[in-house]
Amino acid sequence: MLYFDHNATAPLERAAADAWLVAAREFPGNPSSPHRLGTRAEMALDRARRTLASILGCEADTVVWTSGATESANTVLRHFATTLPPDQEVWVSPTEHPCVIETARRLFGSRCLSPRVKASGQLDLGWMQDQLRSRRPGFVACMAANNETGVLQPWRECAALLQKDQIPLVCDATQWLGRMPALGLGTCSFLFGSGHKLGAPRGTGFLKCPPATRLEPLLLGGAQEEGRRAGTENVAGAVAFAAILENCEQRIRRDKPTANEEQACPNAAGTAVASQSKVVKLKVQQRSEFERRLLERLPGAAIVGADAPRLWNTVSALMPRTDCQQRWVVKLDRLGAAVSTGSACASGKEKPSHVLLAMGYAPEDASRALRFSCGWETTPADWDRLLDLLEQAWLALR
Ligand code: PLP
Repeated sequence: MLYFDHNATAPLERAAADAWLVAAREFPGNPSSPHRLGTRAEMALDRARRTLASILGCEADTVVWTSGATESANTVLRHFATTLPPDQEVWVSPTEHPCVIETARRLFGSRCLSPRVKASGQLDLGWMQDQLRSRRPGFVACMAANNETGVLQPWRECAALLQKDQIPLVCDATQWLGRMPALGLGTCSFLFGSGHKLGAPRGTGFLKCPPATRLEPLLLGGAQEEGRRAGTENVAGAVAFAAILENCEQRIRRDKPTANEEQACPNAAGTAVASQSKVVKLKVQQRSEFERRLLERLPGAAIVGADAPRLWNTVSALMPRTDCQQRWVVKLDRLGAAVSTGSACASGKEKPSHVLLAMGYAPEDASRALRFSCGWETTPADWDRLLDLLEQAWLALR
């Protein structure tokens, strides 16, 4: 089976599985227990925390282990809901993952405002700069890379802009981590991610907070994680997460371009692309070749965010019209490829993607999106095979 749904969840990676198994065997104690096995487990957990922090570029004691990105998002939003003045507005990008946008709307109601997004899918920082002259949100939520389209957000520039006014940035790095260089993400005030998107077992995530934050815990009933998250920590999960992230970072950084090569490849969007390693550039080329041939072979198809910098592993394509987008997914599944529609599915009936609607697509077009998301091991031959299957599926569906 061709697996093109890494953005939903990535298959367990060998390095993560090995690290998990060793940790599960060697550290059977509860990190909160006072005996030696407890202390050893606590030390392993803190080693993993230090590894993660050094990759992100932040202090280890600012990192809280959680069960995943959804819990992290809920924690930080609940923290703001209980600590901000009751009339303060908050700005949440309309392309955020539902765990951010739906939680924020529930907690902040009409105080939750949408900053403007460009047609490329990127946050409009010019608009934001303008608005900040007369308004002050309690925080701004801007993800690092979008899960549906792969569009990279200008999170560095956004962080710098907000820092001037000391407005916290909440950054969801779930799809960025393990695919793009992580260094610098630790400068975002609040940052979170999830291990299973990069090949760690499900059930481990983290939330990085500013130093000395008195975080309002979401989960109560235990003093774990310095009172910031109750519940016994998943030691082996944290160890596996740190191991696989380290592994991915090494892969990304293995052959960074020289300063001359970087100068020869200026990046209009400013974020991250300039620091891409050769291996990332190669992956971008493979994705672009697939897109070029997809447009050639399926008339009526279009690439979402085509002009924006995007994750090398993600293609969001508007497919030729059929009566229901799920039929593409079912047909491709039968032919041997796992892909996704990318948007939330409510009671079996597909709704147009809120991300594409925010980018200005009409609902009929937003409902035509399919998402193909690959992994590090995906080869050009896999992309070719996917293309063949898409063509076969279209012959059967039209
Ligand atoms: N944020 C983004 C960008 C995601 O893609 C996802 C998962 O799809 C999440 C958050 C939620 O992650 P988790 O499954 O760890 O709760």
